[in-house]
Amino acid sequence: MTDKDLITRLDDRLDQLVNIDMGERGVEHLFEAARGIEGRSLVGVAADALMAVPEGGTVLLTTGSVSRAWITPELGENDGPSGAAAIARALVLGRNATCVMLCEETLLPAIRNTCQAAGLFPVTLEQAVIARADKSLATIVMLPYSIEDKGGKAQAIQMLDDLQPDLLFSTERVGRNEFGVYHSMRGIDYGMGRARVDFLFDLALERGIPVVAVGDGGNEIGMGKVADHVAAHVPYGDICQCGCGGGIGAVTSCDVLVTAACSNWGCTAIAAAMAVRAGNAKLLHTPEREALLLDTMVTNGLINSTHGIVDDSVDGFPRASHLAVAELCRTIVSRAL
Ligand SMILES: [Zn+2]
Repeated sequence: MTDKDLITRLDDRLDQLVNIDMGERGVEHLFEAARGIEGRSLVGVAADALMAVPEGGTVLLTTGSVSRAWITPELGENDGPSGAAAIARALVLGRNATCVMLCEETLLPAIRNTCQAAGLFPVTLEQAVIARADKSLATIVMLPYSIEDKGGKAQAIQMLDDLQPDLLFSTERVGRNEFGVYHSMRGIDYGMGRARVDFLFDLALERGIPVVAVGDGGNEIGMGKVADHVAAHVPYGDICQCGCGGGIGAVTSCDVLVTAACSNWGCTAIAAAMAVRAGNAKLLHTPEREALLLDTMVTNGLINSTHGIVDDSVDGFPRASHLAVAELCRTIVSRAL
């Protein structure tokens, strides 16, 4: 029995765990479709791609969903940030990567503080280069992204030219549909005040830069890869409620799509698979850290979008569920660590 066989089995268990459709949102269909395309564990393929980032490389990450855009752009949801922070942490510890997190200016403080609670000190790009050279500090670079279509396209060119990233990562980040509309899971247009970061991902794919994306609904960046299945199996996947004539499915695709019942769980599983590959338990997203991040997200006003209230439930799943998923991911990979 080779180590590779063991890793394959662990990857499959992580995949299965986070794709149990506890939210009744149709994710099992998307999971099956993505698994069919990939032919093996989605979590495993994502971890391979992330661990293939060269030592000292650069990764652009995005997350953040303006949750009630028609009320205020200052309000973000709490699915996304803790998962993105967990992946950034694993990339910094496992690859000494420079991680640049992109989101709306309005959500930047909350996501920055979530990353900091994951162990990453917010610095400028210049400071991150110094920290990378002597490995003296785990850092995160936070940059705002344009909320206009035109600005989003221009910033995409400038960012890829200037930063020359080795990989792009997205989790729980809504992308536009074929008519350029950004939809909620209820099929409503809520694009106002929302970063047009999907244009960056489209350009990265055009340029052949690897893109890993995590989603739980069908309206996120990366779901273009299983567009037909979003249309067929997700509520409002075929036709929205806003009258644009399309469904909620995001057009932006990816190289590796990880589905999960809750996007944060997908990230927790990927971090566990990265820990196995690095042979380093520090890359794990532990229940203890998840608890800290849930508290931090409450303190920073990120919302449990299912219930429309600031609390430590995410996507309507109670706090204990998130700690349990982190614990089970740790248990699954413990035989290899
Ligand atoms: Zn629409």
